[in-house]
Amino acid sequence: DQKVGFIGLGAMGWPIAGHLAKRFETLVWNRTFAKAEAHAREFGSRAVPLEKIAEAEVIFTCVPVSQDVDDLARALLPHLHPGTLWIDHTSGEPEQAKQTALKLAEQGVRYLDAPLSGGVVGAENARSTVMVGGEAADFERARPFLETYCAKIVHVGPLGAGHAVKAVNNALLAVNLWALSEGMVALVKQGVNPGLALEAINASSGRSNVSENLFPSRVVTRSFPNTFALGLLAKDLGICTDVIEAAGTPAPVLRQVREFFAIAKREIGSSEVDHTAVAQLLERWSGVEIR
Ligand code: NDP
Repeated sequence: DQKVGFIGLGAMGWPIAGHLAKRFETLVWNRTFAKAEAHAREFGSRAVPLEKIAEAEVIFTCVPVSQDVDDLARALLPHLHPGTLWIDHTSGEPEQAKQTALKLAEQGVRYLDAPLSGGVVGAENARSTVMVGGEAADFERARPFLETYCAKIVHVGPLGAGHAVKAVNNALLAVNLWALSEGMVALVKQGVNPGLALEAINASSGRSNVSENLFPSRVVTRSFPNTFALGLLAKDLGICTDVIEAAGTPAPVLRQVREFFAIAKREIGSSEVDHTAVAQLLERWSGVEIR
């Protein structure tokens, strides 16, 4: 029976590691260790000290940023066995991932950058999308594990390509979130019912995940559940800027949206709020609520 190890039981890691635990012997570690113990009670995984994660044939990480992954790789390095596969579900940086992969390769460990999309709801329902960067043989080895919680699995290219695609995806999320917020406050200010506006837009060419899912379930309902932190999305916009810089291609909109979200973080005064708080910022600036 194959043993897997999971590091980082946050909003995304918690349900993903839960799905793995149903199919594989699953070792878990979390910085706040009580969460690992709670995970073990809920899903039958096993909470272990960090070094013990190295006993797994496949190691998963899902932590905030690539630097955290690199720190974990450094800490685990003396314990790791050749042939281990490391699947990184962090939305990370292509260049840092290449450095981490080199470090792990010294110990014979294979690495894939494999960021997820679909949010916490997608992760809970085993309907995530995963975009994978790395070598084909490693990707094929990862597939049966990814199949336990992903509805869509795409090998997008070599090492770093997964992170790059994810950063562009999230920049598109940010553009849609900001732009729809601007449009909706203008409509509501002039007396249009936001539910009806969304009903029309969602049957039209301006629709997006933001208009189809986020606005109806989080903004109009005023629930703003905290599932994806504003600070994490702002982090992704920084990565997208790095991707643009590396390509040397024109990207005035994607560059701007990073700046907008930096302003939003300052104005809101927190990185911890849900990313949909951007709609509330536009509401504040406009003196209306999208409800
Ligand atoms: P959370 O903030 O909910 O969880 C972060 C996890 O990482 C926690 O388990 C935390 O431990 C751990 N952690 C934080 N810093 C360190 C560190 N320095 N060393 C070791 N462990 C650490 O984040 P999410 O689960 O929301 O996000 C994780 C990654 O997934 C991010 O890169 C994010 O951008 C991405 N993502 C998030 C989505 C979402 O909808 N939330 C969707 C798709 C991708 P502790 O419990 O001790 O704080």
